[in-house]
Amino acid sequence: MRAAAPDGPAAMAPEVAAEAAAIAGRHADSVDREARFPAEAFAALKEARLLGLMVPRDFGGGGGGLADVAAVAHALAQKCPSSGLIYAMHQIQVACLVRHGQDSAWHRGFLERLAGEQLLLASATTEAGIGGDVRSSACAVGEEPGGAFRLEKQATVISYGAEADAILVTARRGADSPPSDQVIVPVLRGQTQLEEIGGWDTLGMRGTRSVGYRLVAEAERAQILPLPYADISARTMLPVTHILWSSVWLGIATDAVARSAAFIRAEARKRPGTPPPGARRLAEATAGLQAMRGMVRGALARFEEAADDPDRLTALGFAVAMNTLKTEAAEMVVRIVGQAMLAGGLSAYRNDSPHSLGRHLRDAHSAPLMINNDRILGNTANLLLAHRDNGSLFG
Ligand SMILES: Cc1cc2nc3c(=O)[nH]c(=O)nc-3n(C[C@H](O)[C@H](O)[C@H](O)COP(=O)(O)OP(=O)(O)OC[C@H]3O[C@@H](n4cnc5c(N)ncnc54)[C@H](O)[C@@H]3O)c2cc1C
Repeated sequence: MRAAAPDGPAAMAPEVAAEAAAIAGRHADSVDREARFPAEAFAALKEARLLGLMVPRDFGGGGGGLADVAAVAHALAQKCPSSGLIYAMHQIQVACLVRHGQDSAWHRGFLERLAGEQLLLASATTEAGIGGDVRSSACAVGEEPGGAFRLEKQATVISYGAEADAILVTARRGADSPPSDQVIVPVLRGQTQLEEIGGWDTLGMRGTRSVGYRLVAEAERAQILPLPYADISARTMLPVTHILWSSVWLGIATDAVARSAAFIRAEARKRPGTPPPGARRLAEATAGLQAMRGMVRGALARFEEAADDPDRLTALGFAVAMNTLKTEAAEMVVRIVGQAMLAGGLSAYRNDSPHSLGRHLRDAHSAPLMINNDRILGNTANLLLAHRDNGSLFG
């Protein structure tokens, strides 16, 4: 594997990502069958220094932007959606640290370690009794002597928790804080005990190994990101999450359409002059894919335009756009894979065919419930009570 750093890593990212994606693809079936972490893909990504792609060069990282990272997640997801999603979830945490950690000595040091050692970051937002309401926590950061803290969280889902070098955990600011007064803190592997409280035998996204844990961390208060989580969420975590998840789902849809197109072309070659009956469904799936691609690109451009302007990032219209991206992209991937399945017929339905879409279909169904669409639509509905769309072509 070639390395993407140190000379022009962001520019080289597509080439090295394609190599990592090819490795991910070779192991995708066993990752899915055994519900195991895609170790081979992540060894390749680390070797290519793509885990630190978004870390600024001053800290030894690749100096890439969100578009570079979205392209890598998209490339991986076409071959192994679990690898694409893990890469996306890692980079969401990196984005929070890069955008909100540079004014603090601890976090600057951590960014250097992240890039130097290619650390893998996981996330613990979901909590027992609270589910996917990320803007609420039950657990709290408990004050200990000597600038330390202790934190205990019943984290019902932490993807690749066992493999992560650090986990970003949301919690109430203190024992007396209300559920929405949250902070986010990276805790390192050596500072954290993880006791399994649930398994991961799911329909899809099996390689994410999103096991439930009782998480107990003892660490320094200096590790808590200085900005309140409410601001980090609005300015970075929510938009970056929805853009990167959508890029992963776009990768699933892209490969599904490519597989059904290969099937239709093979059928057409068998009977020249007679269009295969599934060709119309392929056209339908292709139209959906084009719309989805435009939507993801549009959201990415919108984020990049607003990225340095906290007022624009916290405007109601921006929140509506980013919420809508998630709910819509999650429905589109399920629909497009379904259309591609109709185009491919039994050849797509079989598990033992080169045109199989079984894994695509199973993985796609995680999208609407990964922070449930109903929960996000309810949130958007509340925002719409106060926000009026300006009717402009460019939002
Ligand atoms: C592949 C995968 C990987 C994941 N990885 C992680 C991870 O690494 N870290 C992490 O913290 N989490 C992770 N999650 C969890 C995920 O982000 C969501 O938090 C979780 O899927 C929500 O779980 P739930 O559906 O049980 O709970 P809830 O969100 O509580 O939803 C339960 C049900 O109640 C409904 N509901 C609840 N509230 C409302 C409302 N206000 N309006 C309408 N309906 C509502 C929902 O629609 C749903 O039907 C992952 C999930 C998946 C699928």
